[in-house]
Amino acid sequence: MKTSTQLRHTLHALDGQSYKAYKRITGTYSCQSFPLQIAHVQADPFATPSRLRVQIPQSIAAYPPETHAHPSRNNALCTYLARQFSTAAHAGSRRNCGSGKSGLIDIDTPGQQVLERTCLFVDDEQVEARFTVGLPADGRRARGLDAAAMLCDDLPAIIAASLTYAANDPGDVRRYTESCEDADHLRAWLPAQELVAFVANGSILPRRSGIDDRPLENAMPFRSPPELEVTVTVPNRGPIAGMGIPAGVTLIVGGGFHGKSTLLNALERGIYNHIPGDGRELVVTDASAVKIRAEDGRSVAGVDISSFISDLPFGQDTIDFSTENASGSTSQAANIVEALELSSHLLLVDEDTAATNFMIRDARMRQLIQAEPITPFIDRVRPLFADCGTSTILVMGGTGDYFAVADTVIAMENYHPRQVTRQARALAAVDPPPAEVEPGIFETAPRIPDPDTFNPGTHTSRRRERIRVTGPKSLLVGRDPIDLSAIAQLIDASQTRALGAALLHLRRTLMDGRRSLAESVTHLMREIERYGLDALTDHPRGDLASFRPQELAAALNRHRPLRVIHGSH
Ligand code: ADP
Ligand code: MG
Repeated sequence: MKTSTQLRHTLHALDGQSYKAYKRITGTYSCQSFPLQIAHVQADPFATPSRLRVQIPQSIAAYPPETHAHPSRNNALCTYLARQFSTAAHAGSRRNCGSGKSGLIDIDTPGQQVLERTCLFVDDEQVEARFTVGLPADGRRARGLDAAAMLCDDLPAIIAASLTYAANDPGDVRRYTESCEDADHLRAWLPAQELVAFVANGSILPRRSGIDDRPLENAMPFRSPPELEVTVTVPNRGPIAGMGIPAGVTLIVGGGFHGKSTLLNALERGIYNHIPGDGRELVVTDASAVKIRAEDGRSVAGVDISSFISDLPFGQDTIDFSTENASGSTSQAANIVEALELSSHLLLVDEDTAATNFMIRDARMRQLIQAEPITPFIDRVRPLFADCGTSTILVMGGTGDYFAVADTVIAMENYHPRQVTRQARALAAVDPPPAEVEPGIFETAPRIPDPDTFNPGTHTSRRRERIRVTGPKSLLVGRDPIDLSAIAQLIDASQTRALGAALLHLRRTLMDGRRSLAESVTHLMREIERYGLDALTDHPRGDLASFRPQELAAALNRHRPLRVIHGSH
C-alpha cells in the first residue's frame, strides 16, 4: 500500500497537466494508518465525480457493539454517520476551486427515512464509507496542489470529524439507534394485535411542503381518539400510547383540508423508519402496505383484473388483460391485483388519486346503466379482507357509501381524529355485511415474464446491456423508459438506482421463462438479504439504497414491452 505522502507527491507532480493525468492516482493509500481507496477517477471535471472509499478499523473507530450489532441499530447508525459525513464534507470542502465539480466532497446523503445504503457500512471490524470527490481543475488542467490538499489534509479531517465514535455525540448515536429499534419492534408487534398501523400520540405528520420532507413547524401533534388508543411497551422508550388501526376496512372521513391525506401519507411512509426529530419515528405500518392509485396511461402485461372488471366493450379479455394505455379504473385494478400478487396485507387508497368510477357506483347509476363492466371497489373491499386477509385504509370525504362496509370510521376534524364508527353505521342503517367469502375470486394464475420481452441491450450490441437511471423516478431499459412517478412509496433516487441494478440482475440470473414474477422478485430479495445490495452490481457502488419487493415488482410491471406467459396454479 502506498502512503499518503506518495499520493501528495504524485498530485503535486501532475499539477498543471492534462486532467487525464489524474488517472495515475487510482489505487489504495494508507491514510493515517487506514486504507483510502481511489476506486475510479473521473475523465473530466464535468463528469460524474471520482469514487473513493475509506475503511476505518474498529480499533480506531471504536463503536461499542451495542451501537451496531442488531440490524435495526446498524441501519440507524449508518444513516446517522452518512449524515454526519455529509455535514462535515460540506463544511470542509473547497468549493469554487475550479471548473465543473472541482472541490466537491459528497456522500449519498440520507433524507428523513432510514434506508440501508451502500455509502456506509459498520460491522465488528470496521466502518466503511464510500463517497465522491470532484478532483479540481482549471479548465481542463489538473490542479494537483489543490487536489493534494483536498485528499491529504481536508479529507482526513472530515473523516476524523464524522466517522469515529469519539467524534460524535454518544447521545445522538443512542437516539438514532434506539429510535429505530423501537420502530421495528412496533412494526413487528402489529400483527399479533390484529393491527395494520400505529400512530403514536405526539407524532408530527404534516411536512413542510411537497418537496420538503422535514416536519412542518408549529404543527398540531397527533392525538389518538380514546376508543382506538392502545399502549405498547417498546424496548427503549418504554410504554407509548397511540392510535392502533385495526385490520379490516378503515375509512378516514372529514371535510376538505382537515388532514385526511396527511394522515394517509404518513401511513404510506410508515413502512420505513424515520430519523429522530422527524415526527414520524413512531408511525408504523404493516411492512407490505401498498399505496394504490389510478395511473392512467400505464402499461399492463397480462394481469387478471376480472375480479373488478369484466365484459369490456368489444370483448376485450380481462382475465389476461394487457394494454399499452390503461384507463383510470383498469390501471387501479391492475395496481391492486399486482399488490396481491406480492401478498400485500394492506392497501392504502386516497380519493384524491383514485378513479371515482372504480371506487363507487351509486343507486341511481346502478338503475340507469346496467351494462357496467366495473364491479366497484366498494363491493370488493370486504371480500378482499375475508378471502385474502388484505385490509384497506381509505380516505373518502366525498361520499358516505363506504359507511356500510367499514369496520372503523375515523373523522378528521381540525387535524384531530375522532372515532365515529357508530354514527356512520347508524347513517348507513346496516352493520357491515358479514364478510361473505367468495372463494377464488381474487385467485390469479402466476404471471411468468417472457425474458425476450425484457431487453436491456442496446440495439447495436447485446453485450452492452444496461439500464440507465434517467431521473429520480425513471429508468431506461435499452431504449424503453420505465415511469415510476406514480409509485408513492419509492422515495429516494438511490432506491431508483438500486431498482435499475436489480432489474438487470433479475434479467440476467432469474428471468428464465419458468419462474413467475413474484418468485423472481422474492428470490432476488433473499439474495440481497444474504449478500447485501453489493450483490447487484459488478463493482461496489456508494449510491444505492434498499427497496421492497413491492417496488421492484412495480418497476418490472411498468416495462412497456413486457409480456407474460401464464403458469398454472
Ligand atoms: P385533506 O386531505 O383532509 O383535504 P390535507 O391532509 O391535505 O387535508 O391537509 C391540508 C393541510 O393541512 C395541509 O397543508 C397540511 O400540511 C396541513 N396539516 C395537516 N395536518 C396538520 C397538523 N396536524 N398540523 C398543522 N397542519 C396540518
Ligand atoms: Mg386530501
